[in-house]
Amino acid sequence: MMERAEILRHLGEQAEPWDVLVIGGGASGLGAAVESAARGYRTLLVERVDFAKGTSSRSTKLVHGGVRYLEQLNITLVLDALRERGHMLQNAPHLVHDLSFVVPAYSRLSLSYYGLGLKVYERLSGRHSFGRSKFLSRERTLQLLPPIARDGLRGGVLYHDGQFDDARYAISLMRTFQDLGGTAINYVEATGLMERNGKTIGISARDTEDGAVFDLQAKVVINASGTHTENILSMDSAPHEAVLAVSQGTHFVLPGGFLEGKTALMIPKTTDGRVLFAIPWHGSTIVGTTDEPVDHASDEPRALLKEKSFLLDHIARYFGRRPAAGEIQSVWSGQRPLVRSSGAKTSQLSRDHRVLVSESGLVTITGGKWTTYRRMGQDTIDRAAEVASLAKIPSRTVDLKLHGWMDTPPEGVPEWELVYGSDLALLNNLSDEEPDLNALLHPSLPYKRREVVWAARYEMARTVEDVLARRTHALFLNARAAMEAAPAVSKLLGRELKRSEAWIAQDLERFLATAKGYVYAEV
Ligand SMILES: Cc1cc2nc3c(=O)[nH]c(=O)nc-3n(C[C@H](O)[C@H](O)[C@H](O)COP(=O)(O)OP(=O)(O)OC[C@H]3O[C@@H](n4cnc5c(N)ncnc54)[C@H](O)[C@@H]3O)c2cc1C
Repeated sequence: MMERAEILRHLGEQAEPWDVLVIGGGASGLGAAVESAARGYRTLLVERVDFAKGTSSRSTKLVHGGVRYLEQLNITLVLDALRERGHMLQNAPHLVHDLSFVVPAYSRLSLSYYGLGLKVYERLSGRHSFGRSKFLSRERTLQLLPPIARDGLRGGVLYHDGQFDDARYAISLMRTFQDLGGTAINYVEATGLMERNGKTIGISARDTEDGAVFDLQAKVVINASGTHTENILSMDSAPHEAVLAVSQGTHFVLPGGFLEGKTALMIPKTTDGRVLFAIPWHGSTIVGTTDEPVDHASDEPRALLKEKSFLLDHIARYFGRRPAAGEIQSVWSGQRPLVRSSGAKTSQLSRDHRVLVSESGLVTITGGKWTTYRRMGQDTIDRAAEVASLAKIPSRTVDLKLHGWMDTPPEGVPEWELVYGSDLALLNNLSDEEPDLNALLHPSLPYKRREVVWAARYEMARTVEDVLARRTHALFLNARAAMEAAPAVSKLLGRELKRSEAWIAQDLERFLATAKGYVYAEV
């Protein structure tokens, strides 16, 4: 694997324009990059911060058709997403698995309504079904979800959907892209668009590590910058219409005891008509999410007071008690780049995606969901190939196995290690050679020192935050523990990347300041 300095040198040496240049290393950009490289186009991806730093590490971690979209009668979206869910499981079984959900019903009418709806959901998935839905008695519902409110409970409906590891999936896409011959680099920002005769011919870029600026030429540029989409569009000399509506969603992470089992809870309609999940994750419980329109994009969005109150009230309603402040291990928020539609509430806005081609030839992909990233990439590259007059090559990603793919994931490996897939053997070698790397980063976190070294050597991790937020999920799982683990991580990472003492101290300080925002502050 090329080191960062080599990649930068390689970029400087390119005399030929790239076939395709992608701005943004989230689900949309990585999906487009893999699609492009799989068709044999020479492809470069630049990410301003880190892969999946934006929305793509802040999802509810569901690979789903979206029961809610079925209720909104967006059958095409549900069908597409269910098909993609099947492809994701098939191509990345180390990162996606089946999860059972129970919808508790507090009236006979809702029991029948959800039972019927979830049967339709299961039928729509056809051969990509994850399992059959079924009615549950009151007793069985309580066995699967012991802590839920009992008053008036009539029974429940069990159905199956997918759970995945969002940030690790992004890293696996980045590595797949590299395996296909693509070039990806993080901490390189697109600062402008280069134009000739009104046509986009590349970008101006800045290495955010050392401030170096350079130009990168390409036959077509793809704007996959998520909530920053409008910023890139406004670098284009032609005027553009507003395309984006941004809404924010917040999650709490609670101890695993809140769910007491391996079954997730799904509330199809909260008091204000949203969907709420409580799902088991790495021995803890994620509860979320909210849907609040916001007027500006942020790399580190913070939970709004009303989001925290909403989650606390609904946890109390469905679990019979409000969690104590100390039980909330982490609070994180993400922002959805939604396709704008006049007058609609963000929770009602479609999760469909949209590919736009500007007069300059800039191709923008926006909207969508993690689950449909592959299809989004396919549609984007179809348009990009037309714009750049590239050789017409059909999509090859439906069956493309992602980096780390393994035939049968081994039994007994914890899910936070399974995410390395076929690389797990190499990770084991690392700690066999240096047994000190087997030590845990923190007694309350499942991660070991070896994951830090691996992230630096093979996954382009550059900062303590890259390691603790996206190569592992320490920050999302337990913010206080992540802060306590950070000084040791910082030393180890500094050693691996041969950083100066001053850089190490500064990076640690930056991480601690960011991490504070994930520690729950009382409402
Ligand atoms: C709370 C919440 C829960 C969700 N849950 C689910 C779920 O369970 N399942 C599901 O399928 N979907 C879910 N989604 C939707 C899904 O997460 C998003 O659709 C998806 O992650 C968006 O990816 P993206 O690549 O478009 O944006 P991002 O992930 O934000 O990626 C854009 C990237 O572009 C980079 N960038 C910006 N400007 C520049 C520049 N100038 N130069 C270089 N790079 C730049 C950014 O740093 C960023 O990394 C959820 C969304 C939210 C908000």
